[in-house]
Amino acid sequence: MADLKLSETRDLTRIERIGAHSHIRGLGLDSALEPRAVSEGMVGQTSARKAAGIILQMIKEGRIAGRAVLIAGQPGTGKTAIAMGMAKSLGLETPFAMISASEIFSLEMSKTEALMQSFRKAIAVRIKEETEVIEGEVVEIQIDRPAVAGAALKTGKLTMKTTEMEGVYDLGAKMIESLGKEKVQSGDVIAIDKPSGKVTKLGRSFSRSRDYDAIGPQVRFVQCPGGELQKRKEIVHCVTLHEIDVINSRTQGFLALFTGDTGEIRAEVREQIDTKVAEWREEGKAEIVPGVLFIDEVHMLDIECFSFLNRALENEMAPILAVATNRGITTIRGTNYKSPHGIPIDLLDRLLIITTQPYTKDDIHKILDIRCQEEDVEIAEEAKALLTHIGVETSLRYAIHLITAAALACQKRKGKVVENEDITRVYNLFLDVKRSTQYLMEYQEQYMF
Ligand code: ATP
Repeated sequence: MADLKLSETRDLTRIERIGAHSHIRGLGLDSALEPRAVSEGMVGQTSARKAAGIILQMIKEGRIAGRAVLIAGQPGTGKTAIAMGMAKSLGLETPFAMISASEIFSLEMSKTEALMQSFRKAIAVRIKEETEVIEGEVVEIQIDRPAVAGAALKTGKLTMKTTEMEGVYDLGAKMIESLGKEKVQSGDVIAIDKPSGKVTKLGRSFSRSRDYDAIGPQVRFVQCPGGELQKRKEIVHCVTLHEIDVINSRTQGFLALFTGDTGEIRAEVREQIDTKVAEWREEGKAEIVPGVLFIDEVHMLDIECFSFLNRALENEMAPILAVATNRGITTIRGTNYKSPHGIPIDLLDRLLIITTQPYTKDDIHKILDIRCQEEDVEIAEEAKALLTHIGVETSLRYAIHLITAAALACQKRKGKVVENEDITRVYNLFLDVKRSTQYLMEYQEQYMF
């Protein structure tokens, strides 16, 4: 390794994943809920967007809890895009849970449990807490020699610095006593409650200044002696019922929230939580925020799931259910009956139906344009026109997929701008559905049956 060249460095490339709907930033409506032609990544599909906007408005006003919406239309006409647009316009506090119907058929839990978890992911609880806090981020708290209990603490002084203020305070007798009992050490993170003088250890901080008693920035200083630093503040936490379920379920720790491996949650746990939440609501401490549950490919649900949905929608805390399908009249799974969209009539009757229409050439051109920008692909006008033509003849989705592939082909020939030749190259490499079907029909005897 003697001739290892240290000067050889590699450029770091930032890898960003771009999702199929990452360009959608809202429904693109103006304040009167009228759709703008191209806005927030949304193009065309004006009546569906307008209808979705009205539903959003009703959700925000809390008028349609427990209602359901069906977004129906041909494949690739933007049903999921509209649902994503609704989610983005809802704001951070309103939960939006999204699943594809096939996800609920898993070995780990029953279908109704999976549906129940999805429902509870779409219901949030706003919990209000009133507390006295110090304004500004706490940068430093020092207590004079707090490690030594007893005598030294009698002369205890508290130095506190926040981003907004700084001061030195005498520790009250009660607090000194409490500190002594708690055996607070240098670097401990504490919360001090003024009326009782109680000191609670919250953990240890890693930041130390000087060689003793520096307590770090994550100190949550609930109250302090000296009065003037105190402020009443209402802290609002927003959590979903599902999060509360998981945290309280004894079999699963809160880490399950990250891994998604929550297993089944017992009915008693949910009942207890619902009772507690009801109590908080009565005491004015909490509010329920019903959000939106979006189930894509809803025709994949079976009759048991549909009857579960019918029942779940009756619950007073129910979120808005939005479902989407690209199926026409088809069999309801688990039965021999056919019905529109494969959805039983009694559930269909509850649904407000929004339909999406096939795109015009102009719409496809604009969507492709937005996607090229989103994927950071420079493309010549002529090549974009060719891609639009392909989109019209095959499908929007196929044309969108060709963007990345064509950009790679362009990179390979060391080009900077995607040209017709790149599009043609990838068009010939990857088949669209029509050509693939034709190929299958020609060579079907060579495939396994
Ligand atoms: P399927 O029935 O196959 O599930 P879909 O109707 O849900 O299809 P989408 O997945 O929403 O279709 O649309 C296909 C692609 O086109 C996505 O990348 C989507 O973001 C984009 N798209 C669809 N409609 C629009 C639109 N009106 N404006 C911008 N982008 C759109």
